[in-house]
Amino acid sequence: MIDIIELLQREFGAGQLITDEDRLIPYGKDESDNGLYLPAAVFLPTDALQVEVLCTLALEHKFCITPRGLGTGKSGGALPINGGIVISFEKMNHILDIDEESLFAVVEPGVITLDLQKAALEQHLFYPPDPASLDQCSIGGNVAENAGGPRAFRYGVTREYLLGMELVRMGGERFSIGKKSVKGVSGYDMTALMCGSEGTLGVFTRLLMKLIPVHRPSGIILAYYPTATAAGKGISTLLRSGVFPMSLEMLDGTAIDHIRGIEGFNPPAGTQGAIICELEGLPEDDALLSSVADLFESTGITEMRAAMDVPDMNRVWEARRRVSTRLKEMHLKKLSEDIAVPRGAMEETLHIVSDIARNLGLESASYGHAGDGNLHVNFLSDSEDTHKNLERAVMELFVRICALGGTLSGEHGIGISKRKYMNIEHDPFSLKMMRQMKKAWDPHNLLNPGKIIPEGY
Ligand SMILES: Cc1cc2nc3c(=O)[nH]c(=O)nc-3n(C[C@H](O)[C@H](O)[C@H](O)COP(=O)(O)OP(=O)(O)OC[C@H]3O[C@@H](n4cnc5c(N)ncnc54)[C@H](O)[C@@H]3O)c2cc1C
Repeated sequence: MIDIIELLQREFGAGQLITDEDRLIPYGKDESDNGLYLPAAVFLPTDALQVEVLCTLALEHKFCITPRGLGTGKSGGALPINGGIVISFEKMNHILDIDEESLFAVVEPGVITLDLQKAALEQHLFYPPDPASLDQCSIGGNVAENAGGPRAFRYGVTREYLLGMELVRMGGERFSIGKKSVKGVSGYDMTALMCGSEGTLGVFTRLLMKLIPVHRPSGIILAYYPTATAAGKGISTLLRSGVFPMSLEMLDGTAIDHIRGIEGFNPPAGTQGAIICELEGLPEDDALLSSVADLFESTGITEMRAAMDVPDMNRVWEARRRVSTRLKEMHLKKLSEDIAVPRGAMEETLHIVSDIARNLGLESASYGHAGDGNLHVNFLSDSEDTHKNLERAVMELFVRICALGGTLSGEHGIGISKRKYMNIEHDPFSLKMMRQMKKAWDPHNLLNPGKIIPEGY
């Protein structure tokens, strides 16, 4: 590998390459708990031409490249599991244009998601996707993982906002796909294919993201229930009611207990299920407020609270974002999955989770984007005797929710974490087709190899 480093040092300035082991360590990890994989070097491009050169050299000298945004991924997509070169987009972090007439932004892939939201807001425009990591993750990473967040319920996930991109294929061809119009049917939809491709097909160098007009002021209703399944039923009732919230989130009793008392979140004792419902128009629309309140009353709540001004609402969301870290801090081991199921199967899924946990002597916590059928399911173990059951719990979960028509991942992607479970969800022919697509884009398997598609396909 030393020759390749010399080659890159000759080609690019010293400031663009990291080779010291100490400085490589942060690039060998992400937020997936999959361990450390050190690359031979990290390359920090400042423009697309340099990406083109790297991809040309990689094919010529047959070394691997792993694209990396800001390393917040939860499925190991940015881990250089075969060594080689990590290409980190932290210096390509410029918003190049916001077109107020046609409502789109042109950005480099390293732009932090929150920075795009703020820049759009300055022009009275809105970029809705809101992963909980929005102040630490990049648009490139969001596109590669098709990231979502609470607002996906009303506004959709990243895919709905990706109009097109410039990208580089392994071998160095740089080209553009997609369009600046919102609609279009012109050949295979390669833009959609790139969204969720986890850095395995092409390296994004410029992204064209749709913006929308800013929404009306919103407010939050917190509805508390005696059981998680009652909250699940509450979600189903709301889904059928015609009310269309911006976000519709749910927490079970264990998730609630881990954030109870954080400012903004104080459910009454005995609460075992909660819904967070954010609705446009609430603060000023009394008729809407009373009709939604009536609707919640009819679903068996124990209590209801409202957060109508921005600081109060921020406190609610801040508390909700802390569930994952609190669970991690307070248990010896946790395995966390982000399954999605048909929306009508939410109640059954909650039963499945508690059933699996009980049978295997584990605790469970489920919370998340229930309006979309997307639940963060956590299996928790605090004793050596039950640690070994965690993997089994996850396997059983995947088998049972896939039988309901669900999916292994609602938003975190497959990476290396869930690769071995792919054949539970996909039939062998689909997996072979995925391998063929990978071959068409990257015949020598040099771009982020070992991700998504399981071994044997
Ligand atoms: C506290 C926390 C909360 C989170 N909450 C959410 C949430 O609510 N919703 C959600 O969807 N996710 C969430 N995540 C997961 C994570 O933030 C997202 O997956 C995010 O999209 C990753 O962005 P990143 O910039 O960190 O990408 P990375 O982790 O660096 O990379 C992710 C993938 O993108 C690829 N990639 C990155 N840049 C490029 C590029 N230029 N070209 C091609 N491929 C590229 C990488 O190869 C990798 O496969 C959360 C993570 C944390 C730590």
